[in-house]
Amino acid sequence: MIRARPAARVSLTEAQGLVLADDVVAQLSLPVFDNSAMDGYAVRAEDTVDATPEHPVRMPVAEDIPAGRTDELTLQPGTAHRIMTGAPVPAGATAIVPVEATDGGVASVAIREAPQPGRHIRRAGEDVAAGTTVLRKGQLVTPAMLGLAAALGMAELPVIPRQRVLVISTGSELVSPGGPLLPGQIYESNAIMLAGAVRDAGAAVIATATAGDDVAQFSSILDRYAADADLIITSGGVSAGAYEVVKDAFGRAGEQGVEFVKVAMQPGMPQGIGRLRTNGADTTIVTLPGNPVSALVSFEVFIRPALRTAMGLPDPDRPQRSAVLTETLTSPQGKRQFRRAIFNPPESGEGGVGTVVSYGPPASHHLRWLASANGLLDIPEDVVKVSAGTQLQVWDLT
Ligand code: AMP
Ligand code: MG
Repeated sequence: MIRARPAARVSLTEAQGLVLADDVVAQLSLPVFDNSAMDGYAVRAEDTVDATPEHPVRMPVAEDIPAGRTDELTLQPGTAHRIMTGAPVPAGATAIVPVEATDGGVASVAIREAPQPGRHIRRAGEDVAAGTTVLRKGQLVTPAMLGLAAALGMAELPVIPRQRVLVISTGSELVSPGGPLLPGQIYESNAIMLAGAVRDAGAAVIATATAGDDVAQFSSILDRYAADADLIITSGGVSAGAYEVVKDAFGRAGEQGVEFVKVAMQPGMPQGIGRLRTNGADTTIVTLPGNPVSALVSFEVFIRPALRTAMGLPDPDRPQRSAVLTETLTSPQGKRQFRRAIFNPPESGEGGVGTVVSYGPPASHHLRWLASANGLLDIPEDVVKVSAGTQLQVWDLT
């Protein structure tokens, strides 16, 4: 239902955590040029074969080559160039003598050890030869890959871009945190929470907005942002009461293609999904219930897996752990129940099954417990009572 964005080249910063849409072929060799692996002296190995600590070979220092020197130098026989790590090795030099094996001289230097030819020289192309495929389509972009791409001179990488998500809260009772509350008002908390969940899933939030229970206000937010979004997530305004702004905006008009359904789960029964065609765009919309726990659990169940799948990311589903319930619980008939839970992993050597205990009441306004839970306890819909000692699945939220 959520469609992948077409592959695109994005900045390295943007690319982190996304999946490569193409192989990456090096246009440059690494190292780019022969350079010194040590601070020391570039010499011809044959000029220093007799060097020992007792009988150092002394030679004039003709050049000083710090890293970043860009003129091309040639070493004359019988001379040395002082050279720093990463600096280009002059033509004619065949080895680097580390400063520790010399007297560190500036005008002339005493070499106390005979280097093997090639010693301490990092050769051009020994890490990457130009033309090599260094990264493969489907790899997840890590910091080390960003470093490699930058070292190869690339400012962008081809990736499956982040899904662009618009998050809208609805409710005339909602006030932004930070200001005062009038009687009957509450602080708006779903937008920041769902936007955080969107980013945590690897997608991008293009905007968060709050509408009162007013169709015109709600529609004006859609008009402003929807065309830019791949996905719109709303919360609130989809249950059975009056003033259900999301239902009113779509349900009654009938032609927008949003279907409102009751899902056999708790929390999160009222849901809606559809496509929105505004300003030439065709955007998926998912309408979540307003209770904060319902909204976030619904996101976990329906949206997070779809977003990650659309971006080609690994592990679209939360890892599931088997765990032994340490209390007896009841659960509504005919509804799959997701209880906030604390999962304790097995102690090492205990055979792989941890324990789980529910955390806080099942009702969907108890946000406090969700905030500190580390799992969702998944109780199948045909179960009405689970006894202590039963093994269940827990979704790992960590
Ligand atoms: P609704 O789905 O609009 O009927 O809302 C259900 C419950 O969730 C009501 O108690 C609302 O006040 C509350 N609620 C809805 N949206 C939000 C929100 N964005 N932030 C905090 N509470 C909300
Ligand atoms: Mg409402």
